[in-house]
Amino acid sequence: MAPCTKHPEQEAASSCKICFEPYCSSCRFHRLFICDGCFFKILIMLLVAMIIVSFVAWFGIFG
Ligand SMILES: [Zn+2]
Ligand SMILES: [Zn+2]
Repeated sequence: MAPCTKHPEQEAASSCKICFEPYCSSCRFHRLFICDGCFFKILIMLLVAMIIVSFVAWFGIFG
């Protein structure tokens, strides 16, 4: 098995379901089957989606 991209000394337990990078059991979000980088990407996407939805709601009521 390939080593983890974040922890080169650790062997990868699985690979990310989004970017297919190998990650180990020490990586924080390994239980979600994604790597740390993709978790933050999803978090930012959700944040942007929430901002867009709140803007639509605002202009839907007051526009
Ligand atoms: Zn990833
Ligand atoms: Zn790791």
